[in-house]
Amino acid sequence: MSSIAQSLEKIRNRVTVLERRYERSPGAVRVLAVSKTKPPEAVRAAAEIGQREFGENHVQDALTKLDALADMDLVWHFIGPIQSNKTRVVAARFHWVHSIDRAKIARRLNEQRPDGLPPLEVCIQVNLSGETSKSGVEPQQVEELAQVVSELPRLRLRGLMTLPQPCDELDDQRRPFAALRGLLETLNAGGLALDTLSMGMTNDMEAAIAEGATIIRIGTAIFGPREVA
Ligand SMILES: *Cc1c(COP(=O)(O)O)cnc(C)c1O
Repeated sequence: MSSIAQSLEKIRNRVTVLERRYERSPGAVRVLAVSKTKPPEAVRAAAEIGQREFGENHVQDALTKLDALADMDLVWHFIGPIQSNKTRVVAARFHWVHSIDRAKIARRLNEQRPDGLPPLEVCIQVNLSGETSKSGVEPQQVEELAQVVSELPRLRLRGLMTLPQPCDELDDQRRPFAALRGLLETLNAGGLALDTLSMGMTNDMEAAIAEGATIIRIGTAIFGPREVA
């Protein structure tokens, strides 16, 4: 077995342990394998043991990889910042977008999603750790943006995503994730039916699973360290 396959097995086992520890249903947490900066062969190694969902944060790099892997039945998630001039290709080539933080981008994706494809699955990215991080909508604006997105027919709003400032203590890591869960509950109480919390990476997956993550986005623990961050 390749070392990528071994690492992926380890992550799956850890997820199972953490689902039990935090009284989550078995299978409640999905692993999104974040393959950004890694070559197509790395994706193949993970796909060979059944991993289907992969995350990318750079449009151009991702396209080369998507083309190289066109023979495989994979589900591609876009998790990085989206510029307006990249929405057309994201709408055409990806299945999910986790990083919606402006109505303008959502509207463009909606207009540009090709007719023959099912709606693009999307999450709204929320900024829960203050001024230093640039991406994500402020918590006070989530409800308004969720209303806009939920009315776009070629998008299907699935939930919320966050990417907090790194920190080491489990309790500190849990705080923004608990806040994201609270926001999702508020939206659902207001009439939406959202089922996705995209939160948790290599260093804070336990905190995220404890707070209700349904998708954890794992790069380093599966593919090893990246040369460019
Ligand atoms: C790179 C990245 C990840 C994966 O981070 P790791 O610490 O390598 O697991 C998750 N989410 C986003 C948005 C990323 O850009």
